[in-house]
Amino acid sequence: MSSKKRVLVAETLEQAGIDLLRERFEVDVRERTDEQTLASIIGDYDALMIKTYTRVSKPVIDNAKKLRIVARAGSGLDKVDLAYAKEVGLTVRNTPQANVVSVAELVFGLMLAVSRKLAAADRYVRSQAGWDRDRFTGVELAGKTLGIVGFGNIGKLVARRALAFDMQVVGYDPFVDAAGMAEHGVRKVETVDDVIDAADYITVHVPLLDSTRGLFSTAQFARMKRNAIFINTARGEVVDEPALIAALKAGEIAGAGLDVYEAEPPNHPELLALDNVVLCPHIGAATREALNRMTVQAAEMIIDALKD
Ligand code: NAD
Repeated sequence: MSSKKRVLVAETLEQAGIDLLRERFEVDVRERTDEQTLASIIGDYDALMIKTYTRVSKPVIDNAKKLRIVARAGSGLDKVDLAYAKEVGLTVRNTPQANVVSVAELVFGLMLAVSRKLAAADRYVRSQAGWDRDRFTGVELAGKTLGIVGFGNIGKLVARRALAFDMQVVGYDPFVDAAGMAEHGVRKVETVDDVIDAADYITVHVPLLDSTRGLFSTAQFARMKRNAIFINTARGEVVDEPALIAALKAGEIAGAGLDVYEAEPPNHPELLALDNVVLCPHIGAATREALNRMTVQAAEMIIDALKD
């Protein structure tokens, strides 16, 4: 029997991280591992790497006698019983920084797609219904004001990219001071309403908390400029979706680009029928680079945790 430590990669993950683990450990890779199977085999392993599907429940943790770390390649930890892991002293780590560039870039994909009606234009060309370019007259980003709500990792990267597009940027984040925003070329404002009053584009980058649930609802959409374009790549519940749909239908705002929804996949027939929205299936983090980075960072966490 090898004296090497053993790592279980419980579902399909990018090769780069697995290769890194294989240089040091005995690594078993499974395509998917259901909870019952995981509970029956986890006793053999010193570390566990998971991504999307693997559930690390109390029965799993109870059988994980040798386990030193659960590393999640990704940001959310909702599939891990964190309270119980903490109680028994099991380290659980994630990689929230790995995908921030990908999300920031998607924000621009959505802003441009809505501004230039790219999804509708694509459908039009494929339909061979005609060549009426006037239907797709759009607007430029240059010279417009972008309002960023939530000035954390992603908000900052969005700001930097907005300046390259010749936009002015205002930011609202109660936990970042004016100097912290000015460093990034952003003017701090004091309330969400101030963002709404200034902005032609509004993009949300707050975590889902009690204080951010429904942050954008009827009153906020009614206050926005009629040319406003609203982007949400944060979490669906930050937005009151029926209120957003009503504002889009009434022409209170010009359009929206969404990557996240109250329910995923989204099930409002009215939302799906709107032409002035671009809808993505929660792909903010879905780039080769982000996926690789997540796996490599998770592998590095395991290497660190298993150091003697
Ligand atoms: P972060 O923690 O770095 O930044 C969040 C910022 O929000 C912080 O600066 C915080 O001070 C601020 N904030 C908290 N409460 C606020 C409030 N009430 N009003 C204004 N600001 C407030 O997080 P991040 O890495 O920038 O991620 C932001 C969001 O993006 C999260 O909701 C995350 O779940 C989401 N996300 C989505 C995807 C995707 O695939 N679409 C991928 C990664 C992250």
